[in-house]
Amino acid sequence: MKKNILSIILLLFILSSGAQTIINRDPEIKKMVDEISRQKIEQHVRKMVSFHTRHNLSEQNDTAKGIGAAWNWIKAEMEKSIPVSGGRLEVKFEEYTVGGQGQRIAQETKLKNVVATLKGTDPNDDRIILISAHLDSRAAADNDNKNFAPGANDDASGVAAILELVRIMSPGKFSATIKFMAVSGEEHGLYGAKFMAAKAKQEKWNLIAMLNNDMIGNSGSSETLLNDNMRVRVFSEGVPAFETEQMTSLRKSTSGENDSRARQLARYIKETGERYVEQMNVTLIFRNDRFGRGGDHTPFCQEGFTAVRLTEYNENYDRTHKIPAVVNGIQLGDLPEYVDYEYVRKNAGVNLSSIVNLALAPYEPVNCGMVTSGMTNKTTLRWEAPVKGVKPAGYYLLMRETFQPLWEKKIFVTGTEITVPYSKDNYFFGIQSVDAAGHESVVVFPGQARRQSGTN
Ligand SMILES: [Zn+2]
Repeated sequence: MKKNILSIILLLFILSSGAQTIINRDPEIKKMVDEISRQKIEQHVRKMVSFHTRHNLSEQNDTAKGIGAAWNWIKAEMEKSIPVSGGRLEVKFEEYTVGGQGQRIAQETKLKNVVATLKGTDPNDDRIILISAHLDSRAAADNDNKNFAPGANDDASGVAAILELVRIMSPGKFSATIKFMAVSGEEHGLYGAKFMAAKAKQEKWNLIAMLNNDMIGNSGSSETLLNDNMRVRVFSEGVPAFETEQMTSLRKSTSGENDSRARQLARYIKETGERYVEQMNVTLIFRNDRFGRGGDHTPFCQEGFTAVRLTEYNENYDRTHKIPAVVNGIQLGDLPEYVDYEYVRKNAGVNLSSIVNLALAPYEPVNCGMVTSGMTNKTTLRWEAPVKGVKPAGYYLLMRETFQPLWEKKIFVTGTEITVPYSKDNYFFGIQSVDAAGHESVVVFPGQARRQSGTN
């Protein structure tokens, strides 16, 4: 407790000294990030490649080859962490049926996702955080289920990172529940993710964040020959794919098109990832996915959840979806020797630190609103403490000028109201909860404060 008070005093000192950047690392999170093994990630990627192809129509009953061998191996690998979890880790297949005549998958096929659930330590905490990658692969032709389709980067890199997180996080005690998922069906239309998003909606999961990791291991670009393993992209939607009329009206009246929940999550991943992972720049891309494309986070956005995509900064089109061969002196194919394992390790660290920081944080503040009565150049914000989870030690007021992409100031507040001498016309504001050790919730973008009798 004494240590916590000291850290808050230190924080206040840093703030009052005018510094904008707060570095308040949790040594436990740092330790977990440092535990991520580049060697283990490489072993996992090479194992995934050894299945020859993980095409959605490949063999399901062979022990060494095909998509069935892949999902069985992933499940067994995740189950290794059950003993260290104190019975909190549960690993399951989620089976679904796809395809039929005239569809991309031409015959009806049963596919499996692998889902590991690490139950939160607080039974009253119903929050779920989901991290996902896809286990299927493809070569060139859509229906080619025979040729070598290594899919080392796309997306064994994402699966390998998730397996490392399961290993390292399973002994940890986090308030919120964390789900680690390896889905099938991605390459033929995001089927595995669509199935899970629909299930989450139907079962009313309190899913507060979904992080899709698809291709996180290639550091060099084809054609333009850029090379950078210090930069990862986080894609987030601005105008949400799912909006109720009320959400649309609030977005328009607050000019909130750059402050969707997905965008707040993306900013959160940038701040947290860069806090814990050295030599890493988390670059926010203000679109849902690459131009005209989508990924496994998209069905979650469409169902109204907060979901983002993490992907390497540079893509190499000689590798993705190619049959391995040397053509005109160029090696084609998504082979394991071209994955930058140090880069995957750092990207896994960005995921781990963000997820753990969020799983340890208090719930978000509720009813966050801007008081708009009266003509004033000051801004008053008001909110309420969350009713569930650990009681926040306080809140951060975030602010930035309207043309800025990232929060510029972060001010610690102990109460549930603050007035600052900045005009609400010229700044955007946000509120997040924080516990005594510095774990923050995702930022909430305020609407108009609800009128309370006698207060305004
Ligand atoms: Zn992919």
